[in-house]
Amino acid sequence: MPQHTTQAVILRTHDFAESDRLVSFYTKDFGLLRGVAKGAKRSLKRFGSALEPFTLNEVTYFAREHQDLVRLERCRIVRAFPEIAQNVRRVALGAYLLELVLGLSPEREAHPEVYRLLVYYIDQLTQTGFRESMIHLFELRLFGLLGYEPQFMHCVACNTPFDISAAYHFSIQRGGIVCPRCEPPLHNMLPISNGTIRLFQQARDLSLLKLNRLYFSRDSQEETHKLFTRFLEYHMGRRPRSLEILEQL
Ligand SMILES: [Zn+2]
Repeated sequence: MPQHTTQAVILRTHDFAESDRLVSFYTKDFGLLRGVAKGAKRSLKRFGSALEPFTLNEVTYFAREHQDLVRLERCRIVRAFPEIAQNVRRVALGAYLLELVLGLSPEREAHPEVYRLLVYYIDQLTQTGFRESMIHLFELRLFGLLGYEPQFMHCVACNTPFDISAAYHFSIQRGGIVCPRCEPPLHNMLPISNGTIRLFQQARDLSLLKLNRLYFSRDSQEETHKLFTRFLEYHMGRRPRSLEILEQL
C-alpha cells in the first residue's frame, strides 16, 4: 500500500462509523481526496483539531488501488486560521470557497494551481483589507483552472470579438457572452454590462497576487453574483448550500 505525504486543506469532515471520521481534503500534489481517519471521533489524541475545515496540514495517507477512500495516517497542522471563526460572515464565505472546490473538482486529479488558489483566498479571509467581491475573482479563476472558464473575449455564437459599443447577454449554457446580432436571447441568458465584461477580461491576464487590485462597482458585484450563481447551479447540478446561509446573514 503506497504511502504519500503532501500538504492539504481540510474541506469537510463527517462522523463515520462508530469511531472514525470521513474527511474530504484538497492536496497540493494529488488534488481532491476523501479518506477515513481511524479513531478520530473517539480519541482526540491522534488528530486533535487538525481535521477542522480550513486547516492546512501536512498529511500522510495510504492509498489502495480501486478504493475510493484513502486511509489518513497522520496530520500535522501547518497553519490553522482561527481569525476566520471570529466573523460569522467570513466563516460562511470560507465555507462557500470550500464547497466550490469540493463540488467542482474531480477526485484524484492533481491541480496544484487550485491548491494555491484555495490557500491564498483562505488567507485573504483573515486579512483586514478583505472585500467580499474578491470571492468573484476566486470563482472566476477556479472555473478557468477546472475547465469551466467563461468566455468574455468574443461572442460564443459567432466568434466576433467583444465590441465596447454593443450590449451583451451571458448564456449560462454556452458559458459566455452573446452579441446583440446573435440574439434574441434564448432562455438561460442574463444581461451583462460591458463594465463587468471588461473587469473579467482584465482578470484573465493578472497574476494571483495582483488579482485583488480589481474593483467591482456595486452593480457589477450584484450582476456577477446572479450570473455566477446560475452558472454554478448549471455545472454543480444544485445550488451551493453555503450560498443560502450567506444570503440569510
Ligand atoms: Zn454573436
